[in-house]
Amino acid sequence: MRTLTGKELAAAIRAQTEAEAAAGPQPRLAVVVATDDEASLWYVRSIAKAAAGVGIACDIVDLGPEAAPERIGETLTKLSADPNVHGLMLQTPLPAGASAQRLAAAIDPRKDVDGANPLSLGRLAAGLPAFPPATAAAVMALLDHYEVELEGRRAVVVGRSTVVGKPLAHLLLDRHATVTVCHSRTRDLASVTAAAEVLVAAVGRPGLIGAGHVAPGAVVIDVGTNPTDDGGLVGDVDFDAVSEVAGALTPVPGGVGPVTTALLLRHTARAANLP
Ligand code: NAP
Repeated sequence: MRTLTGKELAAAIRAQTEAEAAAGPQPRLAVVVATDDEASLWYVRSIAKAAAGVGIACDIVDLGPEAAPERIGETLTKLSADPNVHGLMLQTPLPAGASAQRLAAAIDPRKDVDGANPLSLGRLAAGLPAFPPATAAAVMALLDHYEVELEGRRAVVVGRSTVVGKPLAHLLLDRHATVTVCHSRTRDLASVTAAAEVLVAAVGRPGLIGAGHVAPGAVVIDVGTNPTDDGGLVGDVDFDAVSEVAGALTPVPGGVGPVTTALLLRHTARAANLP
C-alpha cells in the first residue's frame, strides 16, 4: 500500500508560490475571524505563519466571538473593496445566528481564495474559472501528484458540504470521473463506497470508513480531521484496517491538510496577479 503524504507536494507548491509572490506587488491575505474556538484559531495562526514563509502578508481581522452578523458582513464588504487586499477568507465557526454561506456572498469572487462565495461554487459547477475551496483543490492536487488516473473511473465522495464534498464532485466530474456523492441518508454506505476506484471521505467521523468500505487496490483520500482526547488528530478512515485493503491512502495528519494551506496561499498569489 502506498501512503500518499502531502508534505513534499505542499513544499513544492509553497516554493512555486514564493516565486509567484515575489514577481509582483506583495500579495495580502485577510482572514476574518469571529470565534474563540482554539482549533480554529490555531489553524488561522498556521496560515499566517505559512504566508510569512512565502512572502505573503496576512492580516488576521479578529472581530471576537460575540460579533454581530452585520458587523462581519460590513467587514467583508470593506475588505473586498480594499485594493491592498488580494485574498479574503471568512473562518468558521461563526457566532450563533451568523450564516457562513450568506456572509461569504460579500467576498469579492476575485478575492475568494477559499471558494466560499456561492458564486464561486456556481461558476465551478458551470465549468467557469473560479477559486475552488482549498481543501477540494488539495484533494485534486494530491491525486494529480501521485498520478492517479481519473478519466472514466468510479469516484465516490462521502460528504456533500459546500466546502468539500460538492465542489470536489464537480472537480472530479470535470476530469471525467464517474462520480457518486454519499451523505448521512445514503443507505448501505459500504456497498456504494466498495465500488469506488477512488474514494474520498469528507465527513468528520473518526473511523467511519473501515476495511469493509473499501475495494481492494482502491485509492483512498481522507479529508477528515477529528481531534482526539490526547490532543492528536485522526481522519475519517480507519488507517490500519484500510491500509490492508487499499492500494493507496493519505495519512491524517500529513495528507490533505498541508496541501490545503499551501493552495490557499497559491490562490492568494494568483489573485494578486489577476489582470
Ligand atoms: P460537514 O459540513 O459537517 O459535512 C459533513 C458531511 O458528511 C455531510 O454532507 C453529512 O451528510 C455527511 N455525513 C455525516 N455523517 C455521515 C455518515 N454517517 N455517513 C455518510 N455521510 C455522513 O463537514 P465538512 O466541513 O465538509 O468537513 C468534513 C471533514 O473534513 C471534517 O472532519 C473537517 O474537519 C474536515 N476538513 C478538513 C480540511 C483539511 O484541510 N484537511 C478542510 C476542511 C474540512 P448530510 O449532508 O446528510 O448531513
